[in-house]
Amino acid sequence: MSDTPRKGTMLVISGPSGSGKTTICKRLLEDPRVRFSISATTRNPRAGEVDGRDYHFISRERFKELMAEGAFIEHADVYGNMYGTLRGPMQEAMARGEVYLLEIDVQGALQLKSLREPGIYVFIAPPDFTELRRRLTDRKTEAPDVLERRLRKAEDEWRERGRYDHVVVNDKLEDALAQIRKIAGLEHGIG
Ligand code: ADP
Ligand code: 5GP
Repeated sequence: MSDTPRKGTMLVISGPSGSGKTTICKRLLEDPRVRFSISATTRNPRAGEVDGRDYHFISRERFKELMAEGAFIEHADVYGNMYGTLRGPMQEAMARGEVYLLEIDVQGALQLKSLREPGIYVFIAPPDFTELRRRLTDRKTEAPDVLERRLRKAEDEWRERGRYDHVVVNDKLEDALAQIRKIAGLEHGIG
């Protein structure tokens, strides 16, 4: 990244499963100054997901090739599937001066931090673990054993929050959004 003129801002939205990352990112993307980092993943698309919009859905073989080529700025195995942030589109967004939004897991965010990748690192926290359990249960996307695994992991991930620049508690969604917009300098509309 060092030889790329950097006008943009990398905004990392990270935190435990069910903390509200996807909900928050969807709302942040209503702002035309914000561009979503479309990750590559080996997991299968869910109903309603579109290849090239939500993710680049690729095979494990292709993922490994891209890894070998150094195409990822970070990558991680999340619950058995591979996920990675592509370096090229990020460099282009930085050169264009966009707010480049990464919705990634805690391992990935801490990799970028270790690389000293300049950016704003935001940990999205649930109000408490009871509420996290309730939200994940209501979302109905995970089988009970998977849900328990995610909750256990959430407790480990919570301990990493101090390594982020900001911790935003997603209690009232609008309050959390206002905090993040302020942190990212997006609180004033354009024009
Ligand atoms: P993540 O992407 O971090 O796994 P989601 O955005 O899918 O989390 O949110 C988990 C569930 O919690 C979803 O069903 C979502 O609608 C709900 N949710 C998100 N934010 C809030 C909030 N502030 N209050 C109540 N429910 C929320
Ligand atoms: P899901 O499969 O539910 O879309 O995402 C599972 C987890 O992977 C979420 O925590 C999401 O933020 C994370 N994730 C998505 N893309 C990436 C990526 O490129 N890198 C990393 N490290 N995690 C990602």
